[in-house]
Amino acid sequence: MPYCPFCCRTHRRKRGEHVIPKWLAREFPDVKWDLTNRLTKYVRKGEKYINITTPVPCVTCDNGWMSELEKMSIPVLLPIIHGTPVTLSLPEQVIVATWFFKTAVMYDLHSERQAPRPLYFEDYEHRQLRDTLSMNPFYAIYLGKYTGEQFFIIQEDHSDLVFAKRSDLQPLGDSVRVYSLTLAIKHLVLQIFCAKTTLLSTVPLYARDWSAFYVQLATLPFRVDWPPPLNLDDSLIEHFIHRWSDIPSLPPT
Ligand SMILES: [Zn+2]
Repeated sequence: MPYCPFCCRTHRRKRGEHVIPKWLAREFPDVKWDLTNRLTKYVRKGEKYINITTPVPCVTCDNGWMSELEKMSIPVLLPIIHGTPVTLSLPEQVIVATWFFKTAVMYDLHSERQAPRPLYFEDYEHRQLRDTLSMNPFYAIYLGKYTGEQFFIIQEDHSDLVFAKRSDLQPLGDSVRVYSLTLAIKHLVLQIFCAKTTLLSTVPLYARDWSAFYVQLATLPFRVDWPPPLNLDDSLIEHFIHRWSDIPSLPPT
């Protein structure tokens, strides 16, 4: 019997739950969907919709909190997808951030079986998402604007980050597995950056400054305006996707 990591119940499952929700496919009936996971070489293409699914969530979770989250997200996401400038209240930012975290978790579950590769998100994170609609506070979610030629991009990035003392370059412990997922749909760009370490809150990273290309969601009690000052076109989106792999491993202290 399959086991649902969100509610911890075993269940009978007949079909997979879509990672990219059907409402998006209905909104864009004429596009061709194309997924290529460059790390694992998993390829999936589709017309009308893209069939990337995971059989892991149970029907109760699927039709319950996941469906509610989708319904709340649609009116916030659609203007951004179509490129209409918006101002997002904090509750709207939380909705977008939670929706994208759920999407990242579902993509992770899908990739573990289909790619395959190890899961990044752990069972306590699945339960936390279902119970409180929240995630690890060190995860960051960024919202940008894409102006390139592709309609749909979903790409993940894994790397190992080693933190070290600047004075003598001695490592501050073992390497930390870092995970990032970027989703672009028409003009919407969402990116999550995950590192399970408290060091990130105290140690600055040497990294290229992309801050003009995104707004970070749900970190401060303010509204945010979208789009950000600069757009991501086809010459920049790949660098943006892989920006967390470009970090040198010796941040200052
Ligand atoms: Zn469940």
